[in-house]
Amino acid sequence: MSGGSIVFPYGSWRKGQRELAEEVRRSVSEGELLLASAPTGFGKTAAVIYGLLSAGAERVLYLVRTVNEIDPVVRELKRFGARFTFLFSARRMCPLMTAEGSLPSVEDFWGNCRIARAKGVCSYYEELSRLDEAEVAQYVRSRPVISAYRLAWDIAKFKGACPFFALKGLVEDSQFIVATYPYLFKEDIFRSFLEPYDYGDFVAVVDEAHSLLNIHSLHEYRVSQRDLDLALKEVREYASSARDFIAWLESVLKKASRLKVSRITLLDKQPFLEGLDDLSVVEDVVETIRARKAEEALSLSGPSGIGRVKTMASRIYSWLSVLVRDDSYLFAEKDEGGVLWLIATPLDPSRVVKEPLEKVKAAVLLSGTMPSTKLYMEVLGVSRSFKFVDVNLMYGARGFGRFFTIVAADVTTAYRSRGDSMYRLIASRIAMADRLLPGLKLAVYPSYEVMYRVVERLPADVETIVETRGISLDEVEAKILARDPGEKIIINAVAGGKLVEGVEFVDYEGRNLLSTVIVVGVPFPQPDDYTRKHLEVMASRIGVSNARKLVYLVNPMIKVRQALGRGIRGPEDRALYILMDYRYLRRDLKEVLGMPYHRVVKGAEDFEEAVKAARSRVFGG
Ligand code: SF4
Repeated sequence: MSGGSIVFPYGSWRKGQRELAEEVRRSVSEGELLLASAPTGFGKTAAVIYGLLSAGAERVLYLVRTVNEIDPVVRELKRFGARFTFLFSARRMCPLMTAEGSLPSVEDFWGNCRIARAKGVCSYYEELSRLDEAEVAQYVRSRPVISAYRLAWDIAKFKGACPFFALKGLVEDSQFIVATYPYLFKEDIFRSFLEPYDYGDFVAVVDEAHSLLNIHSLHEYRVSQRDLDLALKEVREYASSARDFIAWLESVLKKASRLKVSRITLLDKQPFLEGLDDLSVVEDVVETIRARKAEEALSLSGPSGIGRVKTMASRIYSWLSVLVRDDSYLFAEKDEGGVLWLIATPLDPSRVVKEPLEKVKAAVLLSGTMPSTKLYMEVLGVSRSFKFVDVNLMYGARGFGRFFTIVAADVTTAYRSRGDSMYRLIASRIAMADRLLPGLKLAVYPSYEVMYRVVERLPADVETIVETRGISLDEVEAKILARDPGEKIIINAVAGGKLVEGVEFVDYEGRNLLSTVIVVGVPFPQPDDYTRKHLEVMASRIGVSNARKLVYLVNPMIKVRQALGRGIRGPEDRALYILMDYRYLRRDLKEVLGMPYHRVVKGAEDFEEAVKAARSRVFGG
């Protein structure tokens, strides 16, 4: 198939693909914003790339949420023979610092990388000057894509060069730059790594674009009371002349120690900023400390020691950088271990996306979970002519996978019903599902509290992995892969958390291991200061009723769809969805969730019978 000189690399078009490609071509040619709702697995990436190429887009920034999501885009670009590169966290692909085992914080990573480059002690960076860019391009674009990680590491392994700067070096020669969200939605990252280009030089494609409704969380930064304490000790030891900063840290620690916090609490941020006139002073202190620590590390362990340099003051600087923003708020929270955290965050996504999305040449926003278009555009606050297409409704596009949905209507996590007997009931249903169904299951909860209460009531013989705030995706993936295929285990995670949003539950061949997703309760936001402030901030711009719809309907249902979406990642996948809360029968929730319920059950017997029926329908057993 071809349009002009562009060859569509598949024998035939699937229903809706050609139409989506044409919409993309037209929107890009006219400099518009296109919102496209397209089901997972219908082939939207190929259609979008074809449309972009047909429109003659010179430079495309193709944005994905997670590193794993880079892979399918790169795979399609290779089929088209396009010139591309990809960018994700330099920290995660750095061979110098990952060799040390544990990853440094983002601040430490960049600080250490700068020193390593300036001192000429990073051999991977030095090697770049001997590397032929055309050779790197050929290497990246011709190798089979196993994963972006693997490709990056192979650059270090086989070329001895820094993967991040090698891939960044290909930006100029690339028509497509596939990158994670921060490359457009964090201005400092955009400026640092994509200069000399401006927003206006790119056509932006945003995958999973419903995530933009909460993109402000990308800028959230938290420090603990302990971090502040360690920073104070560090500054006293390494930069004792920084008296103002020391005095400021002491006063913040005093304020923090006086806080009485149970759940997340809004604070007045001004007192926390008093005595701090100029952030660049803090930046200088951080640099001084880092330089001294780097000297110590280099003389002690040579170049690899650079990865071990840690400065707590740099975390405080990053936190302050968010806190001084005119759109940020300060919250305090105690975690389950009793540690106090101070959280600085903006609350309005528009402040993050408005400028880039208004300035790019054109934008294509893709989602399989696109909520009401009008509300979506109001929340983003982007003033630009736009068009919406629903590829499923308008052109009959079909996604892949088959699913069966059961609603358990005799349980709930509504506040007034919470308690031992309800948690027991939920735990017994989950245990029953585990007994009756094969393999890996994902159980998603509205909060850590509900998750812990239910998990502690599961029978001892039910195998579980339980999300904690500090858990790493690598840890979970390693645990899953260490098991025999088909072995039963339940991953317990919090809705909207990193185990639901970022991880792929796949085996070494990339096959999805997950076939049952249980959503316990409805992930409504907690009735706390954060939710109240978020509502207030949004209501002041989009009105009370829209803000309520966003916070209490759209965002929770996006979380549910995200969780369920883990069950179907490929054409062969079959999934059983269990929604454990009678509130899923509410008309407004059902409408926004937009999926059929195959069985609504009450009572253990009814539940058991429905799960057995679903098992034979979905898994054929
Ligand atoms: S230049 Fe060196 S330290 Fe910096 S990211 Fe590359 S390999 Fe790591």
